[in-house]
Amino acid sequence: MKMYRTHNNGELRIENIDQKVKLCGWVQKARDLGGMTFIDLRDRYGITQLAFNETLDKDLSAKARKLNREWVIEVEGVVKERSSKNLKINTGEIEIEVEEFTVLNESKTPPFTIENETDGGEELRMNYRFLDLRRTPLQRNLMLRHRIGIETRKYLSGIDFLEIETPYLIKSTPEGARDFVVPSRMNQGDFYALPQSPQTFKQLLMVSGYDRYFQIVKCFRDEDLRADRQPEFTQIDCEMAFVEQEDVIMTFEGLIKHLFKSEKNINFDKDFPRITYTQAIQRFGSDKPDIRFGMEFNYIKELTNGFNFKIFDDAESVIAICVKGAADYSRKKIDSLTDWLKRPQIGAKGLIYVKCNEDGTYKSSVDKFYNQKCLSKWASYCEAKNGDLILVLSGNTISTQKQMNELRLKIAKDLSLYKDDEYSPVWVVDFPLLEKDEETGNFHAMHHPFTSPKPEDIGFLTSHPEKIRANAYDLAINGVEVGGGSIRIHDRDLQEKVFTCLGFSKEEAESQFGFLLNAFEYGAPPHGGIAFGFDRLCALMGNQDSIRDFIAFPKNNSGKDTMIDAPSRLNEEQKNELGLIVKQ
Ligand code: ASP
Repeated sequence: MKMYRTHNNGELRIENIDQKVKLCGWVQKARDLGGMTFIDLRDRYGITQLAFNETLDKDLSAKARKLNREWVIEVEGVVKERSSKNLKINTGEIEIEVEEFTVLNESKTPPFTIENETDGGEELRMNYRFLDLRRTPLQRNLMLRHRIGIETRKYLSGIDFLEIETPYLIKSTPEGARDFVVPSRMNQGDFYALPQSPQTFKQLLMVSGYDRYFQIVKCFRDEDLRADRQPEFTQIDCEMAFVEQEDVIMTFEGLIKHLFKSEKNINFDKDFPRITYTQAIQRFGSDKPDIRFGMEFNYIKELTNGFNFKIFDDAESVIAICVKGAADYSRKKIDSLTDWLKRPQIGAKGLIYVKCNEDGTYKSSVDKFYNQKCLSKWASYCEAKNGDLILVLSGNTISTQKQMNELRLKIAKDLSLYKDDEYSPVWVVDFPLLEKDEETGNFHAMHHPFTSPKPEDIGFLTSHPEKIRANAYDLAINGVEVGGGSIRIHDRDLQEKVFTCLGFSKEEAESQFGFLLNAFEYGAPPHGGIAFGFDRLCALMGNQDSIRDFIAFPKNNSGKDTMIDAPSRLNEEQKNELGLIVKQ
């Protein structure tokens, strides 16, 4: 039997000196230094230096000089100590004195360099994803993803969770996004929907008695894409029976702590903090607050009223944040922040500042209206000290909170107010059950229609639906929503009432969710669950913003895979079989 390799390229150390070894891999780089030729041989485990000495074997050296980037070779040789060591890599103390090698396959010159830093643009790399995936940073990401998957399975299996698969070809489950649909050949005119999540199935599994379920599962949502969104993405989807919110939160806080411990050796000794949705919006303007740094919101409308500054007088809210030690921000910097805030994506009208000078005086863009005494009141309300900068936005409360959230995050980033490897989880609880669409006046579910209202708020269902709080919770880490879930309704009557409130007629509810309502009549236990965005969790632990680099074959911003050219047209025969006529 042929043996291609005895070791991988990340394995050999000083202890292996004088050992005869066989290695395989890709030629990352070749250096020709007169009598010596060096080659970096790469595989997913690392890089090992190959050395060819002309004085030892002239023919072999000549053959080695012909090797090019990304050729696949098999080499045999002896491990030697290097004269100039590279302590940056694990194998940097040794090299292989090659005695023999075979070219297993040649390669065309790759369209971009396959090294940690590459010269290839995003589009080119997506077209040649199979080459991009050879790069060490991407390989590290996929290995991290693998480890997090394994640890999740280990941890949850260890506490009696069962991994159970649910179907991909289903009937639409409304969770706020559009469905991807699949035409049925055998039932022409009918369509399957791809699941936005296994929500209804995991609830049915609770009715069936599998009281601790999880699944690392693909979900499909036809939404507009951003850096942290993909049309198909992966969740760690979980559900438990005979639980209350507290049980779910504590169980999965355990999972997250385990993942951080195993992957990053980070110990969270204390329970994760919790904050209500209302507090999160009030203090940070976001339901996924980044609490690694302060700059909480101060509401100063009352301190600003009655000084003839119309903008503040007319505003529903005036919100200020205190930026520590930033009184030396230049006019130019503040102007550029103002321009940034005025962009349509954020839509602020302007930005007011107060500099708390070192000498105890104040310099502000609204000096004309507010004297030093006024400004000092604002400063003390915001707990600003000499040397700090106060930034103020005003207007309608909801939009001002949103704009201030953006500003707060930007400043924290600009001033590096956090370390890369610092993680601040926070549970956001007591989400509203429903959200009112301001245009249509209709209500829709903030989490999904199966979320249970807090029992004490059920009375509002007919009178003030917007006041109902839900037993729903999200976990945010560093301003990223990593997971969310809820306690579910398990009672047919209440579920029907919520459907009615969401605008479903009895018939619509029956035709869409009859199976679930029916199941609730056969001994449905109290249950609840959560789902974590697996790709996001990986990106977070890998200290990167984009989930794309943690997915082997992601889609681009237009939802396309340009390498395989998907989505693409069907041919006539396929359309006929499916009974489809496509509008031009
Ligand atoms: N299915 C929900 C989601 O995907 C999670 C849950 O409620 O468990 O957001």
